[in-house]
Amino acid sequence: MEITLEEAAFGVEKEITIPRNEQCPDCKGSGAADEDSISTCPDCNGSGYVRRTQRTHFGIFSTSGPCGKCRGEGKYIKEECKECDGTGLVHTRKKITLKIPPGAEEGTNLRIAGAGEAGERGGTQGDLYIVLHMKQHPVFEREGDDIHAKVKLPFTVAALGGEIDVPTLEGKARLKIPPGTQSNTVLRMREKGIPYLHNHGRGDELVEVVIEVPDHLTKKQKKLLEDFAKEGSKGILGKVFG
Ligand SMILES: [Zn+2]
Ligand SMILES: [Zn+2]
Repeated sequence: MEITLEEAAFGVEKEITIPRNEQCPDCKGSGAADEDSISTCPDCNGSGYVRRTQRTHFGIFSTSGPCGKCRGEGKYIKEECKECDGTGLVHTRKKITLKIPPGAEEGTNLRIAGAGEAGERGGTQGDLYIVLHMKQHPVFEREGDDIHAKVKLPFTVAALGGEIDVPTLEGKARLKIPPGTQSNTVLRMREKGIPYLHNHGRGDELVEVVIEVPDHLTKKQKKLLEDFAKEGSKGILGKVFG
């Protein structure tokens, strides 16, 4: 089953429909039309095994194997159940509510006891196994219990410092940007990642900031930046063209 990152992070209940065989309600899995239709197998006297003797050149051999008439069950059905044609099973589609725990990851295997196929001839119901796969997220990449996001950072905020809105698994949050932040700096938001599956606490969100330079400037902005560059050229910024 495919689930989203948010579903994996916080857990979810999902209803699924699976095709499966269930015990026939008419014959309770026996496969017989009624109680009287079940009789002890005449071939094996109910043991389920038959002994065969073979005469060969080397002597007489005796082998024992499952009875062919009753397929080793020891019981013989005279009249089969009409509902299930004597199989004891009916094919159904079953709705099952799945509880996916917070912190589930790629390949997590969920076992739902007793939700599988019915056993033969009224035997116990098997289990259902669901393997989880993660859908790709448009914003976040998962690294263990941490999540990673790339966020654009206006160059003015990068230089002066400030706060920006960043996406988290629970919606937008404010992230503090220290003055002089360089492009591709990774800032850590503690406990904004995926909750641990087996423990308290959760991973972090790692925000990589990518400095965005405006591709269009107003006249005033251009003038201000030119002044800034001239000021800077005394020190660290180098020569300005234009
Ligand atoms: Zn039946
Ligand atoms: Zn038999």
